[in-house]
Amino acid sequence: MNNKHVIELQDIKKSFIQGGLETQALRGVNLQVTEGEYLSISGPSGCGKSTLLNILGLLDNPSSGRYHIAGVDVSGLDVNQRATLRNKHIGFVFQSFNLIDELSVFDNLALPLRYSDQKLASQQQKERITHCLDLVEMGHRINHKPNQLSGGQQQRIAIARALVNQPDVLLIDEPTGNLDSKNGDAVMKMLTALNQQGTTMCMVTHDPRYADMAKRKLYLLDGVMVDEVNLEMAG
Ligand code: ADP
Repeated sequence: MNNKHVIELQDIKKSFIQGGLETQALRGVNLQVTEGEYLSISGPSGCGKSTLLNILGLLDNPSSGRYHIAGVDVSGLDVNQRATLRNKHIGFVFQSFNLIDELSVFDNLALPLRYSDQKLASQQQKERITHCLDLVEMGHRINHKPNQLSGGQQQRIAIARALVNQPDVLLIDEPTGNLDSKNGDAVMKMLTALNQQGTTMCMVTHDPRYADMAKRKLYLLDGVMVDEVNLEMAG
Protein backbone atom coordinates (compact mmCIF):
# COMPACT_ATOMS: atom_id res chain seq x y z
CA MET A 1 0.00 0.00 0.00
CA ASN A 2 1.24 3.45 -0.95
CA ASN A 3 1.19 5.95 1.92
CA LYS A 4 2.40 9.04 0.13
CA HIS A 5 0.66 12.11 1.49
CA VAL A 6 -0.57 14.34 -1.29
CA ILE A 7 -1.97 16.84 1.21
CA GLU A 8 -1.01 17.46 4.80
CA LEU A 9 -2.63 20.14 6.98
CA GLN A 10 -1.41 20.81 10.50
CA ASP A 11 -3.49 22.91 12.89
CA ILE A 12 -4.86 25.17 10.15
CA LYS A 13 -6.70 28.23 11.44
CA LYS A 14 -8.38 30.95 9.42
CA SER A 15 -9.99 34.12 10.73
CA PHE A 16 -11.77 36.85 8.84
CA ILE A 17 -12.19 40.33 10.24
CA GLN A 18 -15.14 42.26 8.89
CA GLY A 19 -16.61 45.42 10.36
CA GLY A 20 -14.38 45.01 13.42
CA LEU A 21 -15.80 41.54 14.10
CA GLU A 22 -13.64 38.43 13.90
CA THR A 23 -15.02 35.17 12.50
CA GLN A 24 -12.98 32.05 13.08
CA ALA A 25 -13.84 30.06 9.95
CA LEU A 26 -11.34 27.26 10.66
CA ARG A 27 -10.23 26.52 14.20
CA GLY A 28 -7.37 24.06 13.99
CA VAL A 29 -7.93 21.59 11.13
CA ASN A 30 -5.60 18.60 10.75
CA LEU A 31 -5.87 16.51 7.62
CA GLN A 32 -3.80 14.06 5.66
CA VAL A 33 -4.86 12.93 2.20
CA THR A 34 -3.03 9.91 0.88
CA GLU A 35 -2.47 9.12 -2.79
CA GLY A 36 -5.47 7.28 -4.23
CA GLU A 37 -7.96 8.43 -1.58
CA TYR A 38 -11.50 9.61 -2.26
CA LEU A 39 -12.46 11.99 0.48
CA SER A 40 -15.66 13.95 1.03
CA ILE A 41 -15.98 16.96 3.28
CA SER A 42 -19.49 17.88 4.31
CA GLY A 43 -21.19 20.00 6.93
CA PRO A 44 -23.83 22.70 7.31
CA SER A 45 -23.70 26.06 5.59
CA GLY A 46 -21.11 28.35 7.19
CA CYS A 47 -19.07 25.53 8.77
CA GLY A 48 -15.93 26.43 6.79
CA LYS A 49 -16.06 24.12 3.73
CA SER A 50 -15.33 26.81 1.14
CA THR A 51 -12.64 28.34 3.32
CA LEU A 52 -10.96 24.96 3.62
CA LEU A 53 -11.25 24.29 -0.11
CA ASN A 54 -9.78 27.72 -0.91
CA ILE A 55 -6.80 27.00 1.34
CA LEU A 56 -6.35 23.50 -0.13
CA GLY A 57 -6.50 25.02 -3.64
CA LEU A 58 -3.87 27.64 -2.76
CA LEU A 59 -6.42 30.35 -3.47
CA ASP A 60 -6.22 31.70 0.08
CA ASN A 61 -3.71 31.61 2.94
CA PRO A 62 -4.42 30.25 6.39
CA SER A 63 -3.98 32.62 9.36
CA SER A 64 -1.77 29.99 10.98
CA GLY A 65 -0.79 26.34 10.62
CA ARG A 66 1.18 24.34 8.10
CA TYR A 67 0.17 23.11 4.64
CA HIS A 68 2.26 20.72 2.55
CA ILE A 69 1.18 19.70 -0.95
CA ALA A 70 3.12 16.89 -2.63
CA GLY A 71 5.71 17.36 0.12
CA VAL A 72 6.17 21.10 -0.52
CA ASP A 73 5.60 23.54 2.37
CA VAL A 74 3.46 26.30 0.85
CA SER A 75 3.98 28.89 3.61
CA GLY A 76 6.16 31.78 2.55
CA LEU A 77 5.69 31.20 -1.18
CA ASP A 78 4.87 34.22 -3.34
CA VAL A 79 1.87 34.47 -5.67
CA ASN A 80 3.75 33.15 -8.72
CA GLN A 81 5.23 30.19 -6.86
CA ARG A 82 1.76 29.31 -5.54
CA ALA A 83 0.30 29.54 -9.06
CA THR A 84 3.00 27.20 -10.36
CA LEU A 85 2.33 24.70 -7.57
CA ARG A 86 -1.42 24.93 -8.17
CA ASN A 87 -1.04 24.31 -11.88
CA LYS A 88 1.26 21.36 -11.33
CA HIS A 89 -0.46 19.55 -8.48
CA ILE A 90 -4.16 20.51 -8.40
CA GLY A 91 -7.13 20.00 -10.73
CA PHE A 92 -10.30 21.94 -9.93
CA VAL A 93 -13.89 20.91 -10.60
CA PHE A 94 -16.47 23.61 -9.84
CA GLN A 95 -20.22 23.53 -9.37
CA SER A 96 -20.65 25.90 -12.33
CA PHE A 97 -18.29 24.01 -14.73
CA ASN A 98 -16.43 27.26 -15.64
CA LEU A 99 -15.87 26.24 -19.26
CA ILE A 100 -15.24 28.90 -21.90
CA ASP A 101 -18.23 28.94 -24.27
CA GLU A 102 -16.35 30.56 -27.17
CA LEU A 103 -13.81 27.72 -27.28
CA SER A 104 -14.30 24.16 -28.50
CA VAL A 105 -14.04 21.28 -26.05
CA PHE A 106 -10.56 20.60 -27.44
CA ASP A 107 -9.42 24.20 -26.86
CA ASN A 108 -10.92 24.26 -23.36
CA LEU A 109 -8.66 21.32 -22.49
CA ALA A 110 -5.68 22.78 -24.35
CA LEU A 111 -5.75 25.96 -22.24
CA PRO A 112 -4.35 24.53 -18.98
CA LEU A 113 -1.72 22.65 -21.00
CA ARG A 114 -0.56 25.95 -22.45
CA TYR A 115 -0.02 27.38 -18.95
CA SER A 116 1.77 24.29 -17.73
CA ASP A 117 5.55 24.12 -17.56
CA GLN A 118 5.40 20.58 -19.02
CA LYS A 119 5.49 22.17 -22.53
CA LEU A 120 4.11 19.25 -24.52
CA ALA A 121 4.57 19.15 -28.29
CA SER A 122 1.31 19.60 -30.20
CA GLN A 123 0.96 15.88 -31.03
CA GLN A 124 1.43 15.00 -27.33
CA GLN A 125 -1.11 17.66 -26.40
CA LYS A 126 -3.61 16.08 -28.78
CA GLU A 127 -2.99 12.64 -27.33
CA ARG A 128 -3.31 13.90 -23.75
CA ILE A 129 -6.58 15.72 -24.54
CA THR A 130 -8.04 12.72 -26.37
CA HIS A 131 -7.04 10.43 -23.50
CA CYS A 132 -8.70 12.66 -20.88
CA LEU A 133 -11.88 12.98 -22.95
CA ASP A 134 -11.97 9.21 -23.34
CA LEU A 135 -11.69 8.84 -19.55
CA VAL A 136 -14.96 10.73 -19.18
CA GLU A 137 -16.51 9.14 -22.29
CA MET A 138 -16.69 12.44 -24.17
CA GLY A 139 -14.25 11.80 -27.02
CA HIS A 140 -17.09 12.14 -29.54
CA ARG A 141 -17.71 15.77 -28.48
CA ILE A 142 -14.18 17.11 -29.01
CA ASN A 143 -15.22 19.74 -31.60
CA HIS A 144 -18.40 20.88 -29.87
CA LYS A 145 -18.76 24.11 -27.95
CA PRO A 146 -19.76 23.77 -24.27
CA ASN A 147 -23.17 25.42 -24.83
CA GLN A 148 -24.02 22.67 -27.35
CA LEU A 149 -23.78 20.13 -24.54
CA SER A 150 -26.01 19.16 -21.61
CA GLY A 151 -25.05 20.18 -18.06
CA GLY A 152 -23.92 16.66 -17.25
CA GLN A 153 -21.76 16.55 -20.38
CA GLN A 154 -20.27 19.96 -19.54
CA GLN A 155 -19.34 18.75 -16.08
CA ARG A 156 -17.64 15.70 -17.61
CA ILE A 157 -15.65 18.03 -19.89
CA ALA A 158 -14.73 20.11 -16.83
CA ILE A 159 -13.49 16.93 -15.12
CA ALA A 160 -11.41 16.06 -18.19
CA ARG A 161 -9.97 19.59 -18.15
CA ALA A 162 -9.08 19.17 -14.46
CA LEU A 163 -7.19 15.96 -15.33
CA VAL A 164 -5.28 17.26 -18.33
CA ASN A 165 -2.16 18.37 -16.43
CA GLN A 166 -2.10 15.04 -14.56
CA PRO A 167 -2.57 16.63 -11.12
CA ASP A 168 -1.84 14.85 -7.84
CA VAL A 169 -5.30 15.65 -6.52
CA LEU A 170 -8.70 16.80 -7.79
CA LEU A 171 -10.44 19.41 -5.61
CA ILE A 172 -14.13 19.15 -6.34
CA ASP A 173 -16.69 21.71 -5.17
CA GLU A 174 -20.36 20.62 -5.19
CA PRO A 175 -19.99 18.81 -8.53
CA THR A 176 -23.71 18.12 -8.87
CA GLY A 177 -25.02 21.49 -7.64
CA ASN A 178 -26.15 22.57 -11.12
CA LEU A 179 -27.36 19.16 -12.32
CA ASP A 180 -30.64 17.27 -12.10
CA SER A 181 -30.48 14.00 -10.19
CA LYS A 182 -30.02 11.82 -13.28
CA ASN A 183 -27.02 13.81 -14.54
CA GLY A 184 -25.76 14.26 -11.00
CA ASP A 185 -25.79 10.50 -10.44
CA ALA A 186 -23.93 9.94 -13.74
CA VAL A 187 -21.22 12.47 -12.83
CA MET A 188 -20.80 10.90 -9.39
CA LYS A 189 -20.50 7.46 -10.95
CA MET A 190 -17.80 8.82 -13.23
CA LEU A 191 -15.87 10.29 -10.29
CA THR A 192 -16.03 6.93 -8.50
CA ALA A 193 -14.65 5.21 -11.62
CA LEU A 194 -11.82 7.76 -11.89
CA ASN A 195 -10.88 7.14 -8.27
CA GLN A 196 -10.89 3.40 -8.91
CA GLN A 197 -8.37 4.10 -11.69
CA GLY A 198 -6.14 5.90 -9.17
CA THR A 199 -7.20 9.57 -9.11
CA THR A 200 -6.95 11.17 -5.66
CA MET A 201 -10.03 13.25 -4.91
CA CYS A 202 -11.17 15.69 -2.27
CA MET A 203 -14.83 16.70 -2.68
CA VAL A 204 -16.91 19.25 -0.82
CA THR A 205 -20.63 18.59 -0.86
CA HIS A 206 -23.64 19.29 1.31
CA ASP A 207 -25.50 16.34 -0.24
CA PRO A 208 -25.22 13.42 2.22
CA ARG A 209 -26.08 10.86 -0.45
CA TYR A 210 -23.12 11.93 -2.58
CA ALA A 211 -20.81 12.41 0.43
CA ASP A 212 -21.52 8.75 1.22
CA MET A 213 -20.07 7.70 -2.13
CA ALA A 214 -16.57 8.75 -1.01
CA LYS A 215 -14.36 6.14 0.64
CA ARG A 216 -13.59 8.47 3.52
CA LYS A 217 -15.92 11.07 4.96
CA LEU A 218 -15.06 14.13 7.01
CA TYR A 219 -17.50 16.48 8.70
CA LEU A 220 -16.87 20.09 9.57
CA LEU A 221 -18.82 21.88 12.26
CA ASP A 222 -18.02 25.49 13.17
CA GLY A 223 -14.55 25.22 11.68
CA VAL A 224 -13.63 22.01 13.47
CA MET A 225 -13.45 18.48 12.11
CA VAL A 226 -15.95 16.66 14.30
CA ASP A 227 -16.00 13.14 12.96
CA GLU A 228 -14.31 10.89 10.51
CA VAL A 229 -15.45 7.60 9.08
CA ASN A 230 -12.99 5.55 7.13
CA LEU A 231 -15.15 3.07 5.25
CA GLU A 232 -12.13 1.21 4.00
CA MET A 233 -10.99 0.56 7.56
CA ALA A 234 -14.51 -0.39 8.57
CA GLY A 235 -14.33 -2.99 5.82
P1 ADP B 1 -19.34 26.99 4.02
O1 ADP B 1 -18.59 26.88 2.72
O2 ADP B 1 -19.28 25.73 4.83
O3 ADP B 1 -20.74 27.48 3.85
P2 ADP B 1 -17.53 29.21 4.53
O4 ADP B 1 -16.17 28.64 4.51
O5 ADP B 1 -18.01 29.95 3.33
O6 ADP B 1 -18.58 28.08 4.93
O7 ADP B 1 -17.64 30.23 5.76
C1 ADP B 1 -17.21 29.92 7.10
C2 ADP B 1 -17.39 31.15 7.98
O8 ADP B 1 -16.45 32.16 7.58
C3 ADP B 1 -18.77 31.77 7.87
O9 ADP B 1 -19.13 32.25 9.15
C4 ADP B 1 -18.56 32.92 6.90
O10 ADP B 1 -19.47 33.95 7.15
C5 ADP B 1 -17.14 33.35 7.19
N1 ADP B 1 -16.46 33.88 6.01
C6 ADP B 1 -16.11 33.20 4.88
N2 ADP B 1 -15.48 33.98 4.00
C7 ADP B 1 -15.42 35.22 4.57
C8 ADP B 1 -14.88 36.49 4.16
N3 ADP B 1 -14.26 36.64 3.00
N4 ADP B 1 -15.03 37.53 5.02
C9 ADP B 1 -15.64 37.39 6.21
N5 ADP B 1 -16.16 36.23 6.67
C10 ADP B 1 -16.06 35.16 5.86
